[in-house]
Amino acid sequence: MNKNTRLSSGALLFAACVSLTASASADTANHGWTYTGEHGPAHWGAMSEAFHACESGRAESPINIEGAKKAPADMPRLKINYAPLPIDIVNTGHAVQFNATPGTDSISLGDQAYQLVQFHFHSPGEERFAGKENVMDAHLVHSSAGGKLLVLAVQFKLGDHPNPVIQAMLDRVPAEKGAEMKVSAVTVNPLDLLPKNTGYYTYSGSLTTPPCTEGVTWIEFKEPVSITKQQLDAMHHFYRGNQRPVQALNGREIFEVD
Ligand SMILES: [Zn+2]
Repeated sequence: MNKNTRLSSGALLFAACVSLTASASADTANHGWTYTGEHGPAHWGAMSEAFHACESGRAESPINIEGAKKAPADMPRLKINYAPLPIDIVNTGHAVQFNATPGTDSISLGDQAYQLVQFHFHSPGEERFAGKENVMDAHLVHSSAGGKLLVLAVQFKLGDHPNPVIQAMLDRVPAEKGAEMKVSAVTVNPLDLLPKNTGYYTYSGSLTTPPCTEGVTWIEFKEPVSITKQQLDAMHHFYRGNQRPVQALNGREIFEVD
């Protein structure tokens, strides 16, 4: 156990069974790429053959969301079936990430079911909306049984009400930056991260980190959720600036669902 680990008994979203390990070697999870300098986003594609799409991809993420068209009536719609599920919290070296337990939880898009794999945060938010960025975003990454990826993106704005999911996490993870950590078997309901109004934009894009794999369905909720300044400052102890620049649309269409 690391002495900097902070455990709180007050949060409602996490079950009692928490174990924690930490070590100083965050670099093992870094795979060499960064958000600035000679291994920053402009150089990811040249760092590895496996990262080729980061440079040559034509359907990359994030994008600036503007000029969306109304989704046609026959376009498959999102259905959310989240329930509380056990997760592990890890520091990947690029973000604080919540890994979901396989096989317990899903959303669907039309007839296609997806399971939650993990969610993580970027600050500032990666997506732009008519050129504007938000203070933070959450990316909830899902996979179908056939390996097709779908990401739900939630934007955060500063407000007076603490976000319960963020606070539960802050109460439980080591505050030291870059610490490798694992908080196991805690229970969280991803629904608590989503806005009340689930209207969204959708387009086809990619992972926003190496290997920048394409064929990812993005669903970007229009309504932001709140985080306090104090919580955002605390999140910045872990990561600030883990934001890939906006990528060219290259003729892709963006659809809007009310
Ligand atoms: Zn992300």
